[in-house]
Amino acid sequence: MGFTTFGLSDRILQGVQATGYTVPTPIQQLAIQPAVQGRDVIGTAQTGTGKTAAFVLPMLHRLGLHTAANQRHPRALVLTPTRELAHQVHDAVNVYGKFLTLRSGTIYGGVGMGPQISLLRRGVDVIIATPGRLLDHMQRKTIDLSGIQMLVLDEADRMLAMGFIQDVRAIVAALPARRQTMLFSATFSKEINALAAGILRNPHRAQTGRQEEPIAAITQSFYITPSSAKTDLLFHVLEAEKMESVLIFARTKHGADKLAKRLERKGIRTAVIHSNRSQPQRLSALEGFRRGTYRVLVATDIAARGIDVDGISHVINYDIPRDAEDYLHRIGRTGRAGLAGDAITFVTGEDREMLRRIERFTGKRATLQSYPGFTAPQVPQVDPSETIRHTRQPAHLRSRPSNGKRRFSGNGKKRGFAFGVKKKRSAKMETFSSDRAWENR
Ligand code: AMP
Repeated sequence: MGFTTFGLSDRILQGVQATGYTVPTPIQQLAIQPAVQGRDVIGTAQTGTGKTAAFVLPMLHRLGLHTAANQRHPRALVLTPTRELAHQVHDAVNVYGKFLTLRSGTIYGGVGMGPQISLLRRGVDVIIATPGRLLDHMQRKTIDLSGIQMLVLDEADRMLAMGFIQDVRAIVAALPARRQTMLFSATFSKEINALAAGILRNPHRAQTGRQEEPIAAITQSFYITPSSAKTDLLFHVLEAEKMESVLIFARTKHGADKLAKRLERKGIRTAVIHSNRSQPQRLSALEGFRRGTYRVLVATDIAARGIDVDGISHVINYDIPRDAEDYLHRIGRTGRAGLAGDAITFVTGEDREMLRRIERFTGKRATLQSYPGFTAPQVPQVDPSETIRHTRQPAHLRSRPSNGKRRFSGNGKKRGFAFGVKKKRSAKMETFSSDRAWENR
């Protein structure tokens, strides 16, 4: 079955044809026709399954039916959790709407209000927005939402996870009650159900696959490693497998930067993306990764949310995610639109509880193994008598200098001292370093 059976207008079909897509994905098969007919739709589709077209095509179709001359206020609103996703939806609107005369634009935070106000003054048909900045515009009365006929909530689960629920509710409350609403989510929870119940009317349910089940085409591997050997393991894995386009997840911004630097020092072309990077920096990282200028993209969860790059061959969870749902979103960045993909997760001793939660969430047992051919570098052995001697240093050598940095005696035994402490208190030191990581999130 092709796209022609959904009742889409010729101009939209021309737009689809220009992309070269001929066979609708399962979510498109289930969602497009009811949406073309004006029904509310709940789409439960895993990430990377073609859900953007599932709402953009019917949205453009319906807007195209009644092109109002001199219409200045937006008629369709798409809410997305991140600015990257807003850009991607905007790109899809431009691609599929190539043969229409509809105007569209994005609104998101972290950039000046001025250009967005000018855009709204000039007039747009479709607005793609993140909730916080849209609320700003609403409060300043720089946007008029009284003409909204269609609302789409994209990646609703992520919007909730990012704490946007109140913003979303406030925005929806300000929209005309007579409208068509579509809600898409990779996972479906009680909270999403409650949100949907309040804003959709007799929705058509378009559900593909079992919602927690990761995309079948993705091979998932879990490798056990001491946390001190993670970077060596990463270098080893990057060498050993044919990794063309690799997305690596780090837990913190600081960790992502540090890892990217180490990869660069190894001669691996690497870009990094996290919420401290400016919008132009993020876009150029993504663009470079897309074009293949960078072989590796290191990202944190929130920044990676909207990444839609075709042909990511591997996702590596350098740091295991903080919640099981993030695991699904992360690995969904590979294996997009039915392509095969590999997801590799590094698991340290501290990560085992998280791994169990991932297993419960996905309903699959993880096979934990050592990476074939990799031996973690040995921590040099220290003579225990020397260790004891050096852990009992005089107080003046143990105190911190006024610049806050740890002072070493510089007596040539420093290495023995450091390793001795680590050996005796390894658990404590691990906790300390991960606490710091959390602080730097
Ligand atoms: P999405 O889930 O919307 O992020 O889409 C994932 C990827 O699939 C994007 O790169 C889309 O361009 C692509 N895609 C969307 N629809 C189709 C289709 N019918 N056939 C092949 N690829 C598609």
